Amino acid sequence: MPNIEILDQQTIDKIAAGEVIERPSSVVKELVENAIDAQASAITVEIKEGGISFIRITDNGCGIEKDEVKLAFLRHSTSKIRSVEDLFTVSSLGFRGEALSSIAAVSQVELITKTVQGISGVRYVIEGGKEQSLEEIGAPEGTTFLVRNLFYNTPARRKFLKTAQTEAGYIGDLMEKLALSHPEISFKFIANNQLKLHTSGNSNLKEIIYHIYGRDIAGNLLEIEEENDLFSVSGFIGKPLISRGNRNFENYFINGRYIKSALIARGIEEGYQSFTMQHKYPFTVLHISINGTFLCTSNTNSS
Ligand code: ADP
Ligand code: MG
Repeated sequence: MPNIEILDQQTIDKIAAGEVIERPSSVVKELVENAIDAQASAITVEIKEGGISFIRITDNGCGIEKDEVKLAFLRHSTSKIRSVEDLFTVSSLGFRGEALSSIAAVSQVELITKTVQGISGVRYVIEGGKEQSLEEIGAPEGTTFLVRNLFYNTPARRKFLKTAQTEAGYIGDLMEKLALSHPEISFKFIANNQLKLHTSGNSNLKEIIYHIYGRDIAGNLLEIEEENDLFSVSGFIGKPLISRGNRNFENYFINGRYIKSALIARGIEEGYQSFTMQHKYPFTVLHISINGTFLCTSNTNSS
């Protein structure tokens, strides 16, 4: 056996990055979630070649202070929690502080950001985890991330990517879920210079459903609005007429996060049981809100 040695930091970061960033859509997911956490009301995502060579994400959120830019790219650096206790009440989409360091480890990143208080903006370039430059520049309030040549320094990972078209498809699907999960945010998605999705951000969920799924589905919906002591549910369910042959149209979001859950799917399908044929699955877009703190206390009480 060879000697045991401790890996150098760049190798550690590259390996860790693989767990967070699997493909271009993981980059888009992490960066859009950061923009949502930064209270942006408008988010634009632009990709080329399925996001493999080029991803640009622009938001009009709170921006990052000049002094904190470098910090944001360190592993486990986050502004969203301070201690393990905060995990019980965290309402942001992120909190592990791993996305920026992971993305920067396996691509060429350029960040331009400006806070409301900042006198000027900042431009930061980091490639393969190595800082290239940090300078002050004029910039609008908010943040732009440019991510180029994903996995350029980890060819083994790059080989696992599908064709540009397939990768673009994954990002397109993700953008639809993100738009449905936050109707109060205006999303724009551009692939190879073509506008693919543009939502208004006027909080009208039905309008977004129309935009994504078309008239036949939007014209056959029932609005849902229910609340009990534990949680609330709002959104739209499809009439049995528009039931589908698979579960891909069962959309549900918990506290603004798109999830897959066998338990929730079963609940939805049981509700539909007497209205649909076997092997048909309903269309739903349901927003479930649960108060995290309440969940913890009720857990403790029941144990
Ligand atoms: P996390 O989201 O888990 O905190 P990230 O690595 O994704 O970790 O981001 C690190 C930090 O960088 C965030 O906690 C946040 O303070 C800052 N940040 C990242 N993206 C943005 C953005 N678009 N706008 C403002 N701040 C951001
Ligand atoms: Mg994050």
